Amino acid sequence: MKIHLENTCFEKVAFKREDYPAKDLPEVCICGRSNVGKSSFINATFKNNIAKVGSTPGKTRSIVFFNVDNIFRIVDLPGYGYAKVSKEEKIKWRKMIEDYLNNRQQLKLGILIIDIRVGPTEDDMLMFSFLESKEIPIMIVANKCDKLSNNKLAVQRKVISEKLGISPEYIFFVSSKNKLGIKDVQKSLIDFFINEILGEK
Ligand code: GDP
Repeated sequence: MKIHLENTCFEKVAFKREDYPAKDLPEVCICGRSNVGKSSFINATFKNNIAKVGSTPGKTRSIVFFNVDNIFRIVDLPGYGYAKVSKEEKIKWRKMIEDYLNNRQQLKLGILIIDIRVGPTEDDMLMFSFLESKEIPIMIVANKCDKLSNNKLAVQRKVISEKLGISPEYIFFVSSKNKLGIKDVQKSLIDFFINEILGEK
């Protein structure tokens, strides 16, 4: 069995549950705060230019479904933590995210993207605990590593792994900009699907 990650296409935009794609494919959700580089990560890991980078934070948010080689979907959840939106808007986004996480039976993996410079924020920790409480496996991706010197990278690796209580070897340190570390993520995703989901050893 081979999985071709570059064989990814846009499938659907959804604002509510009734809009989610109907066909039962396993799904990987991508979460993180607004501007952390979720779209850039999707482009680097799957197919260039498939996700829109740098769209204005605070614009109307939706859930975007991408189909990966007809084997699984990636689900781009609205970015949280953007300060300059109204309270009502924040509640709406939160409900959209929770609705998806609470109800999507085929959710098999969560990818939580954090900024290497900032580390996990309070919202990231909430998301982490939420996924953990649902017993969804979580892949942590620390993005924007190109923005730090090697010394600072080493410090942040330690800080982040301590805060999350995960050994650094289980955290992916990447730059979606220059594709550093992306091959490891790709390999791990493929292994996860082949071994855990499709049941091939
Ligand atoms: P999203 O809001 O989480 O989808 O974030 P985007 O992918 O739109 O990226 C937000 C901004 O961060 C854009 O200006 C990207 O070019 C930039 N960005 C994303 N990933 C990286 C990275 O690994 N390194 C650097 N230097 N910039 C990045």
